[in-house]
Amino acid sequence: MNFEFSYQNRPRIVDTLKSQKFDLLIIGGGITGAGIALDAASRGLKTALIEKNDFAFGTSSRSTKLVHGGLRYLKQLEFGLVREVGSERAVVHRLAPHLVIPEKMLLPLYEKRGFGSVLTSFGLMLYDRLAGVRKEDRRKMLTRRQTLRQEPLLREADVKGGAIYAEYRTDDSRLTIEIVKSAFKQGAWPCSYAEAMAFNYSADGRVKGVTAIDHFTGGTLDIEADAVVNAAGPWVDELREIDKSKHGKRLHLTKGVHIVVSHDRFPVHQAIYFNVDDGRMIFAIPRGATTYIGTTDTNYDGSKDNVTATLEDVNYLLSAVNNTFKPGKLKVEDVMSSWAGLRPLIHEDGKSASELSRKDEIFESPSGLISIAGGKLTGYRKMAERVVDLVCEKFFEEREIEDSRTGEILLEEPGFANYHEVAKYIGSVARELNMLGGDQRFASYLVHTYGRATTGILHDLRNNFKSADNSSLVSAELDYSLHNEMTLSPADFLIRRTGMLFFDIERLRQSLDQVMGIFKERFHWSEDKMAIERSLIEDSIKFASHFKNQ
Ligand code: FAD
Repeated sequence: MNFEFSYQNRPRIVDTLKSQKFDLLIIGGGITGAGIALDAASRGLKTALIEKNDFAFGTSSRSTKLVHGGLRYLKQLEFGLVREVGSERAVVHRLAPHLVIPEKMLLPLYEKRGFGSVLTSFGLMLYDRLAGVRKEDRRKMLTRRQTLRQEPLLREADVKGGAIYAEYRTDDSRLTIEIVKSAFKQGAWPCSYAEAMAFNYSADGRVKGVTAIDHFTGGTLDIEADAVVNAAGPWVDELREIDKSKHGKRLHLTKGVHIVVSHDRFPVHQAIYFNVDDGRMIFAIPRGATTYIGTTDTNYDGSKDNVTATLEDVNYLLSAVNNTFKPGKLKVEDVMSSWAGLRPLIHEDGKSASELSRKDEIFESPSGLISIAGGKLTGYRKMAERVVDLVCEKFFEEREIEDSRTGEILLEEPGFANYHEVAKYIGSVARELNMLGGDQRFASYLVHTYGRATTGILHDLRNNFKSADNSSLVSAELDYSLHNEMTLSPADFLIRRTGMLFFDIERLRQSLDQVMGIFKERFHWSEDKMAIERSLIEDSIKFASHFKNQ
């Protein structure tokens, strides 16, 4: 597109959705829908995408935030899945090295929990081989002493050794928004706050578009398209029901909770993946001034629009940590924030939440609606390729459409060659922040969040604020985000563009009035509208940090 992905250009996007006919319309702006939009637009299909809330509002902002191969799926003998997502890690890292960051994972081994060292060593070797991990990054087995030196916080009692292996960490909602932005650059028309309410059909019963509500303006949109893909994550079956095609396989939703504590309270030295007494495995991952811990895996049939952690979820995670790491014991009061997400898995009779396959599946309905569910954040590119291949085969057989090329489309231009370059850039940003009197610790946050666009944010600080104090930095970040990332509400900015709700809740509290003020001015909001938006944020803070019994 030759215009910016700015809030000011939303009316132009809406007008285009209303007035033009598309080859492909995608419902759902999580990572699956975003990936499909990028794949389709870059192959020349005229593509639209609608999302009923903000991009990444669903599961794609509530994962463990790892680009990983799913070590535990080896136990379920899912070799194909491990090979695909494992190999994708290096590809996605190459596409966005500032956002998909290499992270060594420590796996402690125990006398009484998990697998023994021979089986673990073999499993990790297989994991590395399936994923084609470079020799220098392959797993290393550790003695008991080496493991305890690597993570002195581990309770010594029954640790008998450990292993270190390669993974990547990311920010799921940032990854999703970067893919949406890339899709837009490739010519797609993504529109948030537009909810598909009904399908429109041709005389012979083929789905030919949708009627959607524009939650931003209150209007209605009729969007016409040859092919429609349902990538609505946990809501996939609701749309299949509207299409009267929810037969055969169905979704099985399981809830996963993460909690966040200050890194000072739980100062792990690195990411750890540890066994719990019930046979499950939990991650503890340091991020900035926090450590986050997750996840749970329980069947879920509550509201999909408001998924929260209960006291029981929180206590489960706290006792997993307290049984594995040395005192001082973490308590509920130490939990600063949390998030809860739904895995849109495919139901299999007789299987428990943790046993269900994480593989994606595509459903085709008699009306031509294509639905995709399951899968992993990490595998978004391959899932997208399969869906677009199918769309081309079913709908555009007569057209010459090139193969997927998303493996070559950097999510940021110009990109970084590798993480070494990212680290160098962080150093230069830290020096600049220092010169502007700002906190140098924000350097890695800014670069991991905005990549090279940090240069523009610093430029704004230098020219318009002459300082990098917290309030100037918030203004400059918000300005960038409004003009380049289709940020339409304080929640979009404070939760999904910056992750402040989860990883810097104090900064959120300090900045809330200022952020509300900027929205009021830019969007000409009335006092009533301000009250609604403020209460949305206050509710989000409450749900993230106050826990009720189930
Ligand atoms: P979603 O992100 O939920 O997107 C669907 C979107 O559709 C939503 O934003 C929703 O608002 C929208 N929508 C629904 N109905 C409509 C409608 N009518 N009109 C318009 N829009 C609509 N994977 C990994 O690779 N690594 C991990 O570390 C990892 N950890 C996980 C931890 C947990 C606890 C969970 C739950 C999952 C995890 N996953 C992980 C899996 C991964 O997060 C999901 O597979 C992925 O995010 C699913 O994305 P999606 O786009 O399919 O669904």
